Amino acid sequence: MHLPIRKELPRLLTVVVKIGSRILTAPGHEKRVSNLIKDLTALHASGCRVILVSSGAIAYGMEALKLKKRPSSIPLQQACAAIGQHRLMQRYEHFFSTAGILIGQVLLTWDDLRCKKRYLNLRNTLFRLLDLKAVPIVNENDSVGVEEIRFGNNDMLGAQIALLAQADLFVNLTDVGGLYDRNPHTETAARHIPVVASMSASLRKMADDRKKEFSVGGMTTKLKAAEIVTRAGIYALIGDGFDHSFREALSKPQSATLFLPQQRKMSSRHRWIAFTGQSSGSLIIDDGARTAVVKLGKSLLPAGVRSVTGTFKAGDTVDIDSPDGKTIARGMVNYGADEIRAIRNCKSSEIAARLGGKPFDEVIHRDNLVVLVSPHDSPSLPKD
Ligand code: GLU
Repeated sequence: MHLPIRKELPRLLTVVVKIGSRILTAPGHEKRVSNLIKDLTALHASGCRVILVSSGAIAYGMEALKLKKRPSSIPLQQACAAIGQHRLMQRYEHFFSTAGILIGQVLLTWDDLRCKKRYLNLRNTLFRLLDLKAVPIVNENDSVGVEEIRFGNNDMLGAQIALLAQADLFVNLTDVGGLYDRNPHTETAARHIPVVASMSASLRKMADDRKKEFSVGGMTTKLKAAEIVTRAGIYALIGDGFDHSFREALSKPQSATLFLPQQRKMSSRHRWIAFTGQSSGSLIIDDGARTAVVKLGKSLLPAGVRSVTGTFKAGDTVDIDSPDGKTIARGMVNYGADEIRAIRNCKSSEIAARLGGKPFDEVIHRDNLVVLVSPHDSPSLPKD
């Protein structure tokens, strides 16, 4: 059985679906989850590779411990997740095994993605699971994920998995049908936005304003997750998986907002540099270098570097900032921070004299550099 999909979408070979805790636990969850798995099974049966990013561990643990309110203590949240995670998986096992589909549990923290070696290992595991026609079910590894290594919100984890799996579509299922120009819960005149062709400052502000008015599980991070994947060339859908079905979110424009990709799919290496690898510092460049990098697609040379912040070594990822402080690109450096400080503002021919050797002409070679703004306008990459 094939699922109907919106006409704007391409043929779907790999889809990442993120599900929030409310969908899994709020009254009516039995039927809601059963229908969701039926739709995912239909998508899987059509030959599409399906990855599920599922929250719910803490909520399931709270239920087992009979806690009415989410605990504020992080260790207690972690204990809830440890108790709840396998209960959550049992539930998925029950539904997917009925459909004859194997599932595989994958638990992660940011550190696992930022470390290139572990990232590549994870990629191999996920692709092997998909080759075996299993459905990977991904969640944050809450037992170890505290503070800076936490995703804290599976919207960003879902986006990262979509990048890693080079998905065609990232579906973020929530309790509203995507974006509205006003609060749909309080304003009857609120207009639904079915398609976003490009992200704008007013759109971001709209999501931000709505967050203050009522909770929809944080539309700001959902929008940011959609922005990241669309910049990497992947379609994103924020849709209602609460009152509506996954099938409707995928097929009916009124049930979801579709975000169109901003460019062709980026290579795996560029996706990691741009959106996953942690920046260890930044290079502030001058206007001439900005034009060379953004408009002419050139490498970054020492002559264009005005100043260096942070401590990093050759091979690390850094932000490239324009003089006004906007991050316009990101790349992997050929030289460490102190070496770049020594050669900034100088011609490539002077590098050898300053460093006692010249392994590279460029501070960042074009192949290791990803431009994050369009040559025409210059919005900065949303900061974490
Ligand atoms: N990993 C969390 C869970 O499964 C989801 C994110 C959160 O609610 O903190 O419950």
